[in-house]
Amino acid sequence: MDKFMERAIELAAENVRDGGQPFGAVLMKNGYIVAEGVNELHKRFDVSAHAEMLAVRRAQKKMHTHVLPGYTMYASGEPCPMCLTAMQFAGIDKVYYCTSVEDAVEAGLGKSKEIYGDLKKPKEERSIKMVNLPLHEGKENPMKLWSGRS
Ligand SMILES: [Zn+2]
Repeated sequence: MDKFMERAIELAAENVRDGGQPFGAVLMKNGYIVAEGVNELHKRFDVSAHAEMLAVRRAQKKMHTHVLPGYTMYASGEPCPMCLTAMQFAGIDKVYYCTSVEDAVEAGLGKSKEIYGDLKKPKEERSIKMVNLPLHEGKENPMKLWSGRS
């Protein structure tokens, strides 16, 4: 197995022994580990404390940037939609994962698969109701403010 994936798996196993969920992540660029993370939901009151999110945050802080092109993520488990989206926003090029969201369901961790399924549905049929409240006339439109800036 790839040494970066081996490290991600090792982090995940250590995290389980520490009372956490079985997820570890390693962010690599040019053959070097730039940042690591494990799922810290058992330690933080933060729903975004997933292994990949923490690795992305640490790399961005370390490199003083919010874009990470040329980086490769090694995740012990297939990333959830939140982490996948964060990686897309960051411009990460490639993700290797070991266990799948189906494996996670079997282990009793079914939320990722559920959300992936929800995202395939039309907006109106998703579990979270999204209601558009248009801007009142005469109110400053931040979107226009943005597009009109010089
Ligand atoms: Zn995640």
